[in-house]
Amino acid sequence: MPERVIVIGSGPAGWSAAIYAARANLKPLLFEGTVQEDMIPLGQLAYTTEVENFAGFPAGDVRSFVESAVDKDRHWNLPPIPKGHERDGRPHYAVQGVELMELMKQQAINFGTRVVGDDIVDVDLTDRPFRVIPRDAEPVETHTIIVATGARANYLGLESEEAFKNRGVSACAVCDGALPRFRDRPLAVIGGGDSAVEEATYLTAFASKVYLVHRRDELRASKIMQDRAIKNEKIEILWNRVLDEVLGNDDDGVTAMRVKSTEDDSTSEFDVSGVFLAIGHTPNTGFLKDKLEMNEKGYVIWKKAFRTYTSVEGVFAAGDVADDYYRQAITSAGTGCMAALDAERYLVDQGL
Ligand SMILES: Cc1cc2nc3c(=O)[nH]c(=O)nc-3n(C[C@H](O)[C@H](O)[C@H](O)COP(=O)(O)OP(=O)(O)OC[C@H]3O[C@@H](n4cnc5c(N)ncnc54)[C@H](O)[C@@H]3O)c2cc1C
Repeated sequence: MPERVIVIGSGPAGWSAAIYAARANLKPLLFEGTVQEDMIPLGQLAYTTEVENFAGFPAGDVRSFVESAVDKDRHWNLPPIPKGHERDGRPHYAVQGVELMELMKQQAINFGTRVVGDDIVDVDLTDRPFRVIPRDAEPVETHTIIVATGARANYLGLESEEAFKNRGVSACAVCDGALPRFRDRPLAVIGGGDSAVEEATYLTAFASKVYLVHRRDELRASKIMQDRAIKNEKIEILWNRVLDEVLGNDDDGVTAMRVKSTEDDSTSEFDVSGVFLAIGHTPNTGFLKDKLEMNEKGYVIWKKAFRTYTSVEGVFAAGDVADDYYRQAITSAGTGCMAALDAERYLVDQGL
C-alpha cells in the first residue's frame, strides 16, 4: 500500500506539516535527513542558541509571565526556569533552537508520525503513486509528498567565521539583530544585494553603526534600497572590500573584523561586535532538479497564491525551500500547516 503523505525535511515546516497530517489520521512518514555539510536534522534552528521570536515561547521569566496572567489553579504545567539562567538578577530563559525543534518532533511523534533518519536522494513524479528514493532505505510509494527541505545560508568559508558562529557571526539579522550582544554596538553586514542592504538598514535600529562591506564599487541592490542605505547616517559602506577575518576571543566573541581591499590587497581592521553574512541562501532542492518547477535560484515555485501547490499535483512545498523572502521559523511552520491541509484536501478530492 502506498503511503498517503511523505514529508521530506525536519525543520519547522516539516514537523508542522507532520503534526497536522498525523492529527488528520494520515499517518505521515517523515524523512528527517542526516548530518551533511551545512545541513543537520531538525533544520536551521538546530544551529542557533536562543530563539526569541517564535510565538508562544517568550524569553525572560516565563514562570512570572504566566503566573501574572493565568489563574492559580492552572499553574501546574509551568516550565521551571533552569538553574543558572538569570539576567539582571531575575530568572531569564529563552527557548534554545534545538529544544524548540525537539519539542516539535515530539509533538509530531505523539500523533503517530513515523520518522526515518535518511536523506531523500531522488523522486519519481512521472507515475502515480509517486516514488521516493532514500539514500539507504528502500524506495517508498506515496500518494502525496510535502517537500520541506529548507535552505542553507551561504557563508564565505573562513575558519574564523565558523569559530564565531552564535558568538557574533550570524546569517540572519531579523533573527539575531535584537539580541543584547548587538545592541548599541558597531556591526558589519557582508554583501551588496537587496537582502544585505535590508539587513543593514534593519540593524541600524539596534546598532550604534553598521558597516556594509561590499566587494564592488556599486551595490547590486535595487536603486531604492541603495538610496536608503546611502542616506542612512548609521550605515558606512566599505566599497571594494571583502571580509578577510573575523577577530575576537573566547570571552567576548566577535570584537572586530579585518577587511581586505579588492584593488590592492591592503587590509584594515574595524571594531565590531557582530558580523552578519548576507550573501544569499541555497535551497536544498538538488534532488528535485527537472522534477518540479523552480525559480532561477532553485527555490520551488508555489503555483497558486495562498496555496502550497507545486507544478506537480499532489506535491506540496512548505517553508524556506519555497520562500526566499520571509525565511523565518514561524512562517515555515505556517506553510507546513498549509501543506498538510492542502495534501489532506487533495487526498479527499482524489478519493484516496
Ligand atoms: C543561525 C540561524 C539562526 C536563526 N534564528 C532564527 C530565529 O531566531 N527565529 C526565526 O524565526 N528563524 C530563525 N532562523 C531561520 C529559520 O531557522 C528558518 O527560517 C527555518 O528553520 C526554515 O524552516 P524549514 O522547515 O523550511 O527548513 P530548515 O529549517 O532548513 O530544515 C530543513 C531540513 O530538511 C532536511 N533536508 C534537506 N534536504 C533533505 C533531503 N533531501 N532529505 C531529507 N531531509 C532533508 C535538512 O537536513 C533540514 O533538517 C535562523 C536561521 C539560522 C541559520
